[in-house]
Amino acid sequence: MYGGIEAGGTKFVCAVANDQHEIMEKVSIPTTTPIETLQQVFAFFDKFDLSAMGIGSFGPIGIDQTKDNYGYVLATPKKGWADFDFLGSVKARYQIPIAWTTDVNAAAYGELKKGAAQGKNSCIYLTVGTGIGAGVVLNQDIFSGIAHPEMGHIWVKRHPDDTYAGTCPYHGDCLEGLAAGPSLEARTGIKGQDLPVDHPVWDIQAFYIAQALINYTLTLAPEKIILGGGVMNQDHLLQKIRQQFVELMAGYMEVPEASEYIVRWGLPNESGIIGSLLLAEKEYRQK
Ligand code: ADP
Ligand code: ZN
Repeated sequence: MYGGIEAGGTKFVCAVANDQHEIMEKVSIPTTTPIETLQQVFAFFDKFDLSAMGIGSFGPIGIDQTKDNYGYVLATPKKGWADFDFLGSVKARYQIPIAWTTDVNAAAYGELKKGAAQGKNSCIYLTVGTGIGAGVVLNQDIFSGIAHPEMGHIWVKRHPDDTYAGTCPYHGDCLEGLAAGPSLEARTGIKGQDLPVDHPVWDIQAFYIAQALINYTLTLAPEKIILGGGVMNQDHLLQKIRQQFVELMAGYMEVPEASEYIVRWGLPNESGIIGSLLLAEKEYRQK
């Protein structure tokens, strides 16, 4: 049995799966304080005899094993979680191999193995929700360097009709500041899910996301880009993003047909938890 945790800012999804990757049991726990939340997480996993676990956590997180903050949640505004030794707390409870990565990396891994990027060696998973974040799998493995990538906080060219200052507390008008869900409401006074399809803000939105996808394509050349998150529930937005992507790329780089290359998730709402479970198995086999 393997255990998986998809740790989000609003909820923790915990699940156990058998060797055939079938999810046997799953719970959703609201994210409150670390102690309270983990108490419930442990109450769930204590019932099982696990071989390994995988954690995909909201970030930023410490992933450098040579540093003291390895396994920690770093600079998050989420109360009580900044500088919390998340991995250490779970390891103290369960002395088994535990894979540790970001929620979006876990989602990218899940999509590569079981979802929209099956059969590929590389993919990017981008979520557009309360924030914007991306996970990267290259050569079948999660990519990391001095830290995990922070691809939501890149700079994009401003849309000529957009004067909005941006919501990012660090950068103002980075991609997340200009194009995460809250920016839609800040510009229009209407929540993204209630905005009419023909509202001009969608062109602005598509312009920013398309630029991000071009930047990711030009730097990493993944085989597929997978889009998740609440805002991407807008089908027309996906079409607009593909159109803008092709237009702005201007034929420079040879890429697959946009409808094949830029796609919705193959594991709706489950990419992260499935990826965490698969990473648990991978960790077990490596140890
Ligand atoms: P989270 O990022 O917190 O996990 P979501 O991915 O649902 O959760 O993102 C929430 C954000 O996405 C909010 O800003 C919300 O207004 C927006 N959103 C949710 N559903 C939709 C939708 N169908 N269309 C457009 N925006 C949406
Ligand atoms: Zn930013």
